[in-house]
Amino acid sequence: MPEGHTIHRLARDLNRTFRAKRVEASSPQGRFEAGAARLDGQRCCEFEAWGKHLFALFDQGDVLHVHLGLIGKFRKAGEDPVGAVRLRLTHNEAGSKTTHWDLRGPMVCTVGGPDLVEDVTAKLGPDPLRKDGDIEEFVARVRRKRVAIGAALLDQSVIAGIGNVYRAEFLFILGIDPRTPANQIEEDDLRTLWKLAVEQLRRGVRLNRIVTVDPADIGAPDARSIPNTERLYVYKRQGAPCRTCATPIEEFDVGGRKMWECTTCQ
Ligand SMILES: [Zn+2]
Repeated sequence: MPEGHTIHRLARDLNRTFRAKRVEASSPQGRFEAGAARLDGQRCCEFEAWGKHLFALFDQGDVLHVHLGLIGKFRKAGEDPVGAVRLRLTHNEAGSKTTHWDLRGPMVCTVGGPDLVEDVTAKLGPDPLRKDGDIEEFVARVRRKRVAIGAALLDQSVIAGIGNVYRAEFLFILGIDPRTPANQIEEDDLRTLWKLAVEQLRRGVRLNRIVTVDPADIGAPDARSIPNTERLYVYKRQGAPCRTCATPIEEFDVGGRKMWECTTCQ
């Protein structure tokens, strides 16, 4: 499933095409005909992301809400829709080239009124990539959880936008045992965790992929040049040597999902 950096990058790229522009909307597949008809011809104010949720605000007060889920894709597309396109957004103005974006396989694709953003985000924790992301709110929300920190980081009501890759990587970088009860982690360590999330997710948006490894650890000149085979410390590296101490990385379950750790470093 895409993590928060993917959705923020998507909002940024969609804004480049649609911000302050009149939008044509259609549902080539037919499953979103009424919603598309409601948006068709409106001016898009902007796209914004909160965790793994994507919103588009329109000038008549309508809001499009998308969650890609496990298999959803929202991508620039050619003239002819390919496959089951739930929603096609088109920018087509005299004097500029026509641009299509196609949404396929989303978990959520709905249109609502101005309250929709607040209704959805009321259930979400702070997002490290948003300007309104509040470090103290994150600390308070983690401290209320008795589950393992490895599980708490996947809880979107604690912190929005973290998925299975980042949670394993952050806990390795900070040397935290993923089984530690969330409410037993020191507040200062939680502030360090939030700052790491801000820095890492921003890097993820910039590179459009997750690269958690410090370039110095593998002798690379910068994060951008790190190959995909070397960009992570522990995620899906079971049996491979820890990049810091060479202990084999282990796989186990936390919060119902697979997790990876170095038992020496953490
Ligand atoms: Zn290690």
